[in-house]
Amino acid sequence: MNAFDTPDAETCGTTLTIDLGALIANWRALGERAGTEAAAVVKANAYGIGIEPAVTALSRAGCRSFFVAHVSEGIRARSVDREAAIYVLNGLLPGQCDVYAQHELSPVLGSHQELLEWAAFRQGGANARPAALHVDTAMNRLGLWPGEGLNLAREKAGAITAAGIGLVMSHFASSEDEADPANDRQIAAFAEIAAAFPGLPASLKNSSGHFLKDCPSYQLTRPGYGLYGGNPTPGKPNPMRPVIRLEARILQLRDVDAGTQVGYNGRWTAKRRSRLATICLGYADGYPRNASWTDTSTGGSAVVGGVICPFVGTVSMDLTIVDVTDVPAAEVQRGASVTLIGGPLDLETVGAGAKTIGYEILTSLGRRHARRYVGL
Ligand SMILES: *Cc1c(COP(=O)(O)O)cnc(C)c1O
Repeated sequence: MNAFDTPDAETCGTTLTIDLGALIANWRALGERAGTEAAAVVKANAYGIGIEPAVTALSRAGCRSFFVAHVSEGIRARSVDREAAIYVLNGLLPGQCDVYAQHELSPVLGSHQELLEWAAFRQGGANARPAALHVDTAMNRLGLWPGEGLNLAREKAGAITAAGIGLVMSHFASSEDEADPANDRQIAAFAEIAAAFPGLPASLKNSSGHFLKDCPSYQLTRPGYGLYGGNPTPGKPNPMRPVIRLEARILQLRDVDAGTQVGYNGRWTAKRRSRLATICLGYADGYPRNASWTDTSTGGSAVVGGVICPFVGTVSMDLTIVDVTDVPAAEVQRGASVTLIGGPLDLETVGAGAKTIGYEILTSLGRRHARRYVGL
């Protein structure tokens, strides 16, 4: 048993297996593809797989830079890696400088106000790690306007020094769609920014950015989704190794006649005599209720005995019903495990079945699965 495994695995009906070896292989593959240092984005509990095990595995493999969203996540990452640079993407909220310094975290500064606050804190003699400067080249979300970034570089070099900036970065708005002309505009806008800060390392690529043509890698890339096995090139074969597998057990089997209504509010009606399996996983496990399969809409599925079987009726809190009519009888038994994520049900397929994206499936992974960490 791995130190990060759930202690009560025997009493859980669902199992989430996390392959930390595949996580490391994906991080190495993206770094090789970029030809430069790859950081690891481990926000949102490392996209659901667990921030402590992810940071432990990646830092053992040589990862020196991590990105999180919240200070609290930075503190968790710091608890398992004393040395790495840990950047907090959400930046400074008023009064947060001390906690950044205490845990040796680096804020990603996204406005003049944040820059001035951090510079004043450092001028006061605080011993703080270098910060990053975020320039917004498309999103209108966080970061300085490109013009503000250029102005800082050209006319206020003192402010950059005072704030101890060690990285300048921007973020893609649609890099998973290589045909979107917004990518080239962002690449050009960021090239100008990076050139205006000649002494500073720069960072632009998220996972999908690694697969864009004619996009420089600069000194650091910031993959997240691809590390966890998500496909950074949607619509094309997935270059990443799968990292997670989610299984749930069959609690009951029953045969129903054509015309039988199934589940809450009877939203699915059997069109033939059907064999149904009830599995112990529902929306309380982070599997979206939007994956319900009704008489008027398609939804999610499970792999049972090698066959992809559709859900029937609404996904309920703790239970989901699966149509196993087409599975050979010997393959479906009470207590058997079925696969919800893994094999043909990759993150993108699961996301589409729930009318969302693989990112949301990953980051919603439930808290009551037995977690098994393998491959380290
Ligand atoms: C989440 C995030 C990333 C990682 O993006 P992926 O698409 O998951 O690779 C990189 N940079 C920033 C600023 C982010 O918010």
